[in-house]
Amino acid sequence: MTTLLESEEHKSLRAAVSAFAKTHPTALEAEDNTRLWQEAAKLGYIGVNLPEAYGGGGAGITELALVLEELGAAGNPLLMMIVSPAICGTVIARFGTEEQKREWLPRLADGTRLMAFGITEPDAGSNSHRITTTARRDGTDWILSGRKVFVSGVDIADATLIVGRTDDARTGRLKPCLFIVPRDTPGFERRAIDMELSAVERQFELVLDDVRLPADALVGDEDAGLLQLFAGLNPERVMTAAFGIGMGRFALGKALEYARERTVWKTPIGAHQAIAHPLAQAHIDLELARLMMQKAAHLYDAGDDAGAGEAANMAKYAAGEACVRAVDQAVHTLGGNGLTREYGLGRLIAASRVARIAPVSREMILNYVSHQTLGLPKSY
Ligand SMILES: Cc1cc2nc3c(=O)[nH]c(=O)nc-3n(C[C@H](O)[C@H](O)[C@H](O)COP(=O)(O)OP(=O)(O)OC[C@H]3O[C@@H](n4cnc5c(N)ncnc54)[C@H](O)[C@@H]3O)c2cc1C
Repeated sequence: MTTLLESEEHKSLRAAVSAFAKTHPTALEAEDNTRLWQEAAKLGYIGVNLPEAYGGGGAGITELALVLEELGAAGNPLLMMIVSPAICGTVIARFGTEEQKREWLPRLADGTRLMAFGITEPDAGSNSHRITTTARRDGTDWILSGRKVFVSGVDIADATLIVGRTDDARTGRLKPCLFIVPRDTPGFERRAIDMELSAVERQFELVLDDVRLPADALVGDEDAGLLQLFAGLNPERVMTAAFGIGMGRFALGKALEYARERTVWKTPIGAHQAIAHPLAQAHIDLELARLMMQKAAHLYDAGDDAGAGEAANMAKYAAGEACVRAVDQAVHTLGGNGLTREYGLGRLIAASRVARIAPVSREMILNYVSHQTLGLPKSY
């Protein structure tokens, strides 16, 4: 793929991550990715976006997305990068207290700790304004109660950043507030959801039953509202785009190898335009999605939260769709082998759909663009 917009440093980071990822067994062959995570962290890849003063690389979401894309393109995506350094690390770096920064950032960067992120609720789904996980004060402590669903990696994370709410006394509108909940806090229960995904990172349903937290579990200001939350959600969207583009490139690469070799008539199947053109289209779609992802990351890193919001949504949409189509075409290119375990593409059919659904679905992005960008009225 071309990297016209990238500096020499970016190009060498891309090459280094790609070479590193290729020395490890792919996600298809490996039972867990702890070693990959830790080695990537030691090389500075996991904390590349975190501030240098706290053990990070001092770069931005642009570089973190580049790392995740290359890992994915080599068949070694690290899903928790979307959460631990991108959402949690960013929110703590931007809004945490000095003590929270010292406690968490160096460890998130060096791979000794991991943080999950829980916002989705069973009864709220895409409508985060309806979340009911509630924080109330008890002396200086906080008591957190509620339920979450589909939260990734809670079992392997040292803590989960939970989005709760305090009600605005005047308007009753959502005032999100963020709490660090250590994994073994009494009342913080988890149950693994039986997903049709063969990934090492599992999803969990959480029950928070009067979870007592000290005052310093709150990250940022309880009155800061949506700004703080979106400081984490925009990087999440950029990173999900990187995840989708990486997976799409991996699938496309497998299909290209196969299409060059496999011959059932006189020429390799890649010579048939019915095979070649959809693969070319998949490549174009992935390239376009990457351009939008780079724009979103660039705006975010430049401090333009509002501009980054729109671009991150569009990038996530474009990457999710490009990923689903690339995987679909790759599977088709391999014929029967598209569904064998040996080639490992069948499992990507489910995995690629994640990029369309999470963290914000295709439809909710189309809603956002219709209303916010195009000024059309709301149906809901
Ligand atoms: C593998 C995986 C990992 C995840 N990891 C995490 C995590 O770590 N932390 C976390 O908090 N969450 C996580 N999620 C949850 C994810 O963010 C949600 O699944 C997603 O936000 C959609 O919510 P929902 O599943 O409740 O769907 P719903 O909101 O119920 O939506 C169902 C369908 O209805 C459509 N729909 C809903 N409202 C509208 C509307 N107004 N207009 C048009 N269409 C609409 C949606 O687009 C969707 O197609 C994960 C999900 C998956 C699958």
